[in-house]
Amino acid sequence: MNIHEYQAKEILRNYNVAVPRGKVAFTVEEAVRNARELDSHVFVVKAQIHAGGRGKGGGVKLAKSVEEVKKMSDDMLGMNLVTHQTGPEGKEVKRLLIEEGINIARELYLGIVLDRSVSKLVIMASTEGGVEIEKVAAEKPEAIIKEYIDPQIGLQSFQARKIAFGLGLSGEQIKNAVHFISSLYKAFVESDASLAEINPLVVTAEGQVLALDAKMNFDDSALFRHPHILEMRDQHEEDPLEIEASQYKLNYIKLDGNVGCMVNGAGLAMATMDIIKLAGGMPANFLDVGGGANVETVRNGFKIILSDSNVKAILINIFGGIVRCDRVAQGIIEATQSVEIKVPMVIRLAGTNAEEAAELLKNSQMNFEVAQTLEEAAQKVVQVLN
Ligand code: GDP
Ligand code: MN
Repeated sequence: MNIHEYQAKEILRNYNVAVPRGKVAFTVEEAVRNARELDSHVFVVKAQIHAGGRGKGGGVKLAKSVEEVKKMSDDMLGMNLVTHQTGPEGKEVKRLLIEEGINIARELYLGIVLDRSVSKLVIMASTEGGVEIEKVAAEKPEAIIKEYIDPQIGLQSFQARKIAFGLGLSGEQIKNAVHFISSLYKAFVESDASLAEINPLVVTAEGQVLALDAKMNFDDSALFRHPHILEMRDQHEEDPLEIEASQYKLNYIKLDGNVGCMVNGAGLAMATMDIIKLAGGMPANFLDVGGGANVETVRNGFKIILSDSNVKAILINIFGGIVRCDRVAQGIIEATQSVEIKVPMVIRLAGTNAEEAAELLKNSQMNFEVAQTLEEAAQKVVQVLN
């Protein structure tokens, strides 16, 4: 789950991670009130959407007076903000963060993510802050400092010092940075985060080290332990189809392609997406209908897949292990009686009772192609598109 910048800063503040003073506003009046309370000479008005690159898109503005905060908030609330992360359709701005202006001396980068290849958290830091870290990683990988954390012993203070030295900090700044990094790490672990990105991490003219921007993602499976974080969910920022799918208890992720996929099991779903791409197609979604695919789940699966207007063909790939193929086939037949499917469909059912399933499908009124292997299924679905 993603949260807004102001919410991430709220969590960080509770862990004594230094962040600028500031408060969220849903209306212009609130923005003005927040600015007055801040009692500062310079203010920053920041659009709160779940996407980065807001600065370049006009979603981060400096104001020199409360009057200016009022004008900018009025312009920004309700605007459609387009950044390189929102896609061309952009996102409507419904919340603002009103912050005190910070006197920036240096903009750095600091992030914590899980490196799955070594099963460890890695802290990444770079002197090239404020810009896209992906670009730094691609063009100047040597400019990224990495510290891997042993999960048994956690972050060691020498590691935090190493990062601070690597960032070219000195004197009091080092102490501040070490405190910042250790507190951020604690916040990350205790809230079951999957990503924390501080870009930019700034050093102020006074030698303070603080998070000018903050992005945090959380492990969905751990959210039950954090009701306070779960409350931060903003459904307006999520894909409506993904929300609907979660109500049906389906694991669905929308993608950009045109081959709708219905698969049982997450691993098989991933493999199916890979093999569609290998055959020259583009999957429209990830969809795991789970181990007990019945009429209801298949019907809901079809509904979700077909709500995506990009879908031009459907590939059903079911492996009958716990679930029997004939039951799934029956489910597909019954589901198609209540959901109209106008796009071509390729079905592959393998495993327990696959032959009975093939017989059922053959005798139905449905229009579809059958495939034996996963490879054949992918090739057929790509063929029907052309
Ligand atoms: P993003 O573009 O969505 O990543 O938004 P950020 O919060 O990172 O802000 C973008 C840029 O705005 C930063 O890199 C800073 O250069 C600038 N900025 C943000 N807040 C302040 C501030 O308080 N003072 C100054 N001088 N610049 C700021
Ligand atoms: Mn940023």
